[in-house]
Amino acid sequence: MVCDVSQSNSSWIWNFIQQTLQPSTFQHILNIQPPNPNTGTDRCSWFHGKNGEFSVKSAYNLITKELWNPTDVKWIKLWHLPIPERIKHFLWISYRDRLLTNVNRCARNLTDDPLCQICRSANETLLHVLRDCKQTASLWQLIIRQQQLQDFFTLGTNEWLMMNLDSNRLFAGSKIPWKTLFASLAKNWANYFITTTPDSSTGTAFPRPKLIQWRPAPAGWFTLNTDGAVHHTSSLGSAGGIIRNKDGDWIVGFNKAVGISSPLQAELWGILEGLQLAWSQILEHLQCQTDCAEALTLVTSSTAASSPVSIVRFIASLISKQWKVDFILIRREANATADFLAKSTVVSNDLPCIYIEPPQEIIPHLARDLHGPAFTRS
Ligand SMILES: [Zn+2]
Repeated sequence: MVCDVSQSNSSWIWNFIQQTLQPSTFQHILNIQPPNPNTGTDRCSWFHGKNGEFSVKSAYNLITKELWNPTDVKWIKLWHLPIPERIKHFLWISYRDRLLTNVNRCARNLTDDPLCQICRSANETLLHVLRDCKQTASLWQLIIRQQQLQDFFTLGTNEWLMMNLDSNRLFAGSKIPWKTLFASLAKNWANYFITTTPDSSTGTAFPRPKLIQWRPAPAGWFTLNTDGAVHHTSSLGSAGGIIRNKDGDWIVGFNKAVGISSPLQAELWGILEGLQLAWSQILEHLQCQTDCAEALTLVTSSTAASSPVSIVRFIASLISKQWKVDFILIRREANATADFLAKSTVVSNDLPCIYIEPPQEIIPHLARDLHGPAFTRS
């Protein structure tokens, strides 16, 4: 029973766990937030969804994850299409959801505006570009056979692409195979969307700055930088962070092992531990800087307090205390010091290492944050 290995003060009974369970299980428990009455009752959470919510897409990805390989019939079909190489390549990118739509650009910090620049009424996802945006949809409605329209507009991305490359029932107006026509139309639509620049009065897309450097929060505020890291083979995660004042002086730092973890979980652990540490320092104004857009979206969501992910609920309960906490998204390069701390975690238990003084190895990183040279990005 979980209650046998946790205490009423929301911590695991670590000695008992280490004595009774296998080390491999222990690493999984390390990644789980101990039961806490402040985070509400237990609820079901879909492990394979980014925010704990079930979606058909995540279930589909789970089922197909192991199946993706170049000999997959889907890829064979794609690479044998009688269409120019550049269009095949475009379809391959679409299958992998690597097209630089605004949603994907947001995930890469290339913009902070996920909306479609044509209609500005929905996020610009791949399906929105290729099928669902008002302009695109009205074109398809003229072309696709009436009796196929429902399937056409309801399938998920990969099924939809496959349907178009597989079926000749969708369109009866030409001797040219539908897959050839479709591929060409889709590519042209994508070009049109991706090259459309935002309206300067509403859009906020921006070019990458040439120089990137850490910036402290304004006077009166403390800055918390947090980061997570996951080892690519062992999947063991760790989190780290640092609190500095407006002049960039070290207040306190931490790092912590978080067990078998996804990158997003490690980032969330960094934010949670950082906020707990900041709260314990009785700081009244805190700017939390993260380079993880996904984590930022989760913890600043209006529904964070009822998120299916307990760590997000815990963070939401911390933010709602009597202090002012702001979050900003920063570039990875400006978060190098927190990244260094996260990656230098050595102790593998559930307690964070707290650094009242900066460790020697981190001093060059602190100096670079304050005095440069700035990082550059091409
Ligand atoms: Zn649109």
